[in-house]
Amino acid sequence: MLLQRAGAEILVVAPRLDREMRTCVDDGLVRYLARAFSESDLENQTLVIAATDDATVNRRIAELAKARGLPVNVADEPALGSCILPSVVDRSPVQIAISTGGASPVLARQLRARLENYVPAAYGRLAELVEGFRAQAKRRFPDGAQRRRFWEQMLQGPAAEAVFAGRVDTARDMLRKALDDAAAKPPSCGEVYLVGAGPGDPDLLTFRALRLMQQADVVVYDRLVSAPILDLIRCGAERIYAGKYPRGPRVAQEEINALLIRLAKEGKRVLRLKGGDPFIFGRGGEEIATLIDEGIPFQVVPGITAASGCAAYAGIPLTHRDYAQACVFVTGHRQDGTVDLNWEMLAHPRQTLVFYMGLLGVGIICEQLISHGLPPNTPAAMIAQGTTPAQRVLVADLEKLPGLIERSDIKAPTLIIVGEVVRLHDRLRWFSPSEGEHNVKS
Ligand code: SAH
Repeated sequence: MLLQRAGAEILVVAPRLDREMRTCVDDGLVRYLARAFSESDLENQTLVIAATDDATVNRRIAELAKARGLPVNVADEPALGSCILPSVVDRSPVQIAISTGGASPVLARQLRARLENYVPAAYGRLAELVEGFRAQAKRRFPDGAQRRRFWEQMLQGPAAEAVFAGRVDTARDMLRKALDDAAAKPPSCGEVYLVGAGPGDPDLLTFRALRLMQQADVVVYDRLVSAPILDLIRCGAERIYAGKYPRGPRVAQEEINALLIRLAKEGKRVLRLKGGDPFIFGRGGEEIATLIDEGIPFQVVPGITAASGCAAYAGIPLTHRDYAQACVFVTGHRQDGTVDLNWEMLAHPRQTLVFYMGLLGVGIICEQLISHGLPPNTPAAMIAQGTTPAQRVLVADLEKLPGLIERSDIKAPTLIIVGEVVRLHDRLRWFSPSEGEHNVKS
């Protein structure tokens, strides 16, 4: 009886009661009138719930209540009412309300059960404790960003743990001391988080990436970071695009380095968000080298690189006992736009080759691999926009792949996988969000 716990005085009007309601009446939790509903029952009420087993009566109650401007909920027919009763996870003063818009109360209850497990029982006590320090923290940290950082640290640190362990007094002392210490310290330098966002599917983010996305003050992101991932960044964080402009030049690496340093020196927590893994063809090394020169603290969070993500979502294992004992990640084009690789090393049997940034050079890549000894019928695949709802997989062989790509309308980013493992795609593929699957059998 959530209403009763919230302090409501409840009047039940019904000719008969079900067993549950009977117990409430017997326990004196609600007042009860043993008769049918009459309009005068609505007088002096604040909230009306029509939950009889007669749909006509429920509808009439709803209409009368609405005419009087009273919020009304109709059980099992939410559209007739003007308000809903959500499932509630109650950690007062913290409350989480769950609604499915009337679609499925059972689903709401299941979600509630999961949240009940997830949210520590003492969350309410933590909120109460923190409330008592709000005014003081506001005086200590007039700057909103600094204040938010203070609270984020406190609410994830030992003080919160102390509350969860039932030691509220210890937690209070810790908070008091943290506020005093903060007053003595000068504002600190910011920090840079170099974070891999994975190949596109937001479910492939790491927990750490998600947590840092929630606490960053400013996010500097690349072209490859997908829109659903950007949606997970904290609303209040400033966003700065540092990719290539459509048909324009790429933002120079030096500019990005200088930007990260300037923002960190302003005391901000800067999230540098990159597609895939920051240390795989991601210039992550160059960016942190300049941070080290400037003495700016940083951390690096790995991401799922395009090769792993695309291979998994295309059903192409990069290694396989029968087909490939090694796997080489290669960049298909150099800064000056040419393709210049050690073809002897690449044209080996029993290894898988993964070419990043290979779309423009695919003709040269396939030609060189053949002329350095790989059979023309070596299987080869191109995966476009891998792991996203727009994923496309083109499968052919070294001889036919360039022509197939030319005739298709696939869009970047694309990855090329060459090697016997590509044959497994036919049997192992499982993720097919779009219809456009093309296969050319050799
Ligand atoms: N650091 C990134 C790679 C950056 S280089 C990583 O670890 O994945 C950019 C190249 O990555 C693109 O040209 C493309 O070859 C590849 N790539 C990135 N995301 C991709 C995706 N969703 N599907 C296919 N290829 C992708």
